[in-house]
Amino acid sequence: MNKPLFEVRHSPIHGFGGFATQRIRKGTRIIEYIGERITSEEGDRRYDDDKSEHPHVLLFVVDKHTVIDAAVGGNDARFINHSCEPNCRAVLDKKHVYIEALKTIVEGKELTYDYNLTRDGKETAETEKQFACHCGAKTCRGTMFAPRKEKRKKLIRASEAIVVKLTEKKKLVLYHERWGRIICIYFLYSLHSG
Ligand SMILES: [Zn+2]
Repeated sequence: MNKPLFEVRHSPIHGFGGFATQRIRKGTRIIEYIGERITSEEGDRRYDDDKSEHPHVLLFVVDKHTVIDAAVGGNDARFINHSCEPNCRAVLDKKHVYIEALKTIVEGKELTYDYNLTRDGKETAETEKQFACHCGAKTCRGTMFAPRKEKRKKLIRASEAIVVKLTEKKKLVLYHERWGRIICIYFLYSLHSG
């Protein structure tokens, strides 16, 4: 039998976590997120937010109707912690959820993915506290909830700067920080340059 790719032990982030037992290559499907498949209504019923101390984060939303409750029949995937700067991500494939390596992970590193929890609008100060993030990343947004839309926009604006350059051949070129050159427009005006 293959050695499991990670082991569960105490985590500096929160409770237990999953730690790589060997080098895990980028793109590796590490484990399937398993648990009882229930309706989202049933999930809400089981884990009423007001009755704190429950493992709500063990509910994985598959789609509008289905959630996976890892508290019932879950595997070690349920121990993988959230981070705002994760090295894994959750991928949905034919209604199955897998935790996949976003980058190559060295042995001993804690595996994390962004839970991106959705708010239902009924969050109280208590729930916010409960889902506060202590991942320690520089870009930690302080919560396991997905960034609010307007915030997300701001983040994009801050990180994806477009730089406009005027080349010698009077071409206007827009450079995207990550994608490189995205558009090139011939500059129609003659410029009075010194
Ligand atoms: Zn964080």
